[in-house]
Amino acid sequence: MSEYALYIDGQAVAAKTAFPVVNPATGAVFAQAPLADAETVESAVAAAARAFSATGWRDDESLRRAALQTAAERLEAAQEVIARLITQEQGRPLAFARAEVAGAVAVLRGHAALPLPEDVILRDDTESLARVERRPLGVVAAITPWNVPVILLALKLAPALLAGNTIVAKPSEITPLSTLRLAEAIGSAFPPGVFNVVSGAAETGRALAAHPAVRKIAFTGSVATGRALFRNAADDFKRLTLELGGNDAALVLEDADPALIAEKIFWGAFWNSGQICFAIKRLYVPAALQKRLLEALLSRARKTVVGDGLEEATELGPLTTATQLERVRALVADAKSRGGVVHTGGRVPDAGFFYPPTLVTGLGSGTPLVDEEQFGPVLPLIPYTDAEAALAEINANPYGLGASVWTSDVERGLGIARRFESGLSWVNEHQSLHPGTPKGGWKWSGLGYEGGREGLEAYRQLQVVHVARGAEGGHS
Ligand code: NAD
Repeated sequence: MSEYALYIDGQAVAAKTAFPVVNPATGAVFAQAPLADAETVESAVAAAARAFSATGWRDDESLRRAALQTAAERLEAAQEVIARLITQEQGRPLAFARAEVAGAVAVLRGHAALPLPEDVILRDDTESLARVERRPLGVVAAITPWNVPVILLALKLAPALLAGNTIVAKPSEITPLSTLRLAEAIGSAFPPGVFNVVSGAAETGRALAAHPAVRKIAFTGSVATGRALFRNAADDFKRLTLELGGNDAALVLEDADPALIAEKIFWGAFWNSGQICFAIKRLYVPAALQKRLLEALLSRARKTVVGDGLEEATELGPLTTATQLERVRALVADAKSRGGVVHTGGRVPDAGFFYPPTLVTGLGSGTPLVDEEQFGPVLPLIPYTDAEAALAEINANPYGLGASVWTSDVERGLGIARRFESGLSWVNEHQSLHPGTPKGGWKWSGLGYEGGREGLEAYRQLQVVHVARGAEGGHS
């Protein structure tokens, strides 16, 4: 049995069965999570549908804002306990886990105060009124991955609820506990049924996504799952927002100073042990600069403290799963077999799913480590002599989440940044996002936007209301 509960219709609900949650810093099971079967998913969606049709929630904007504000306060009060769970189930250092919860609090607060765009009046005279109004969609299924579990939920929950929808969230089976604990902390801020959480793996997600009462799927995760959801949503034309994988490139220009940029590039690639959708995953370097940049990055890698995220000094935690560790090992072995040279950073603990920050030279596109999303602390350096050709190669990749250019000439950098085929584009930074930024991937990296005004609109639909005037006397 699990000491954690599902959250349905304003109540903590026990499940008949449980599944294990592993601490990646030790490789050992440390808790059991409740498994929501199809029947339980049905009851969560039914509760959300009832809460939506009860009208009080969807018609009362001030109630929704107050609820989001209360939820923000309760989440803030639970910051430490949720942050420790993130570190234990996902692996990241505790300071970053605390920052993730603080970020989620800020998302809830920001949405509590985010204006809902005004209705547009098309005509308003003695003969008729015509107005474009916006309505919520109904029940939203929010399906999240394991790499940043709490903030990715907040980015769905806050706009969905502000817009007047109700929600059933399904966290990743790898990191369910932080979301279950979040529901325990903030659930009662909302009327029963408005916010529900069911945990489980793909089967639970499939049952939720396929439910006919679900009107929108808000998904963050892999391209493969995104593709399956997109196909299946066609059956009843569910709305979708898909935030998928990335293979972000950083393009260093010949006027960049390796000593100045190495630290930022290091963190742009290795933060969260590379398990960030918009981490730098390919580094294009002028051939003449490669040696200096490699040395600067390698010296930073060798100093990095890799260990259990609960220890204060840790800078990088483990990979989150044994599968992910195996994938990274396999990609590096494949790179070696193709002539890649592997430069490895510092020591890592023996137990758990650790991998040291690693740089690989001698590879080009056409190899899996360069072409695919490695999602781990391994960065290939690709030397080039022609920046235009490098840009073309970067854009030829099917992913289009983010890209950055590094230069001492910001104007030139901007010119290149605007030519990246990606939803995020940076000059001399990578991974930074301002609050309220709409984020969305191009090409394989997604569909639609999450965050900001655009993200909010993804949870509403237009209704054009027409009123004929002068006929109120009735028809004979
Ligand atoms: P995943 O696709 O395996 O799983 C994501 C979620 O979907 C989990 O909750 C999982 O249980 C559920 N799921 C799996 N199969 C399902 C199905 N058939 N129907 C419904 N739900 C299903 O992804 P993951 O491995 O957890 O996450 C890593 C991926 O997420 C990486 O590719 C990463 O780049 C991407 N990601 C993207 C963003 C972004 O904003 N674009 C952010 C974070 C992570």
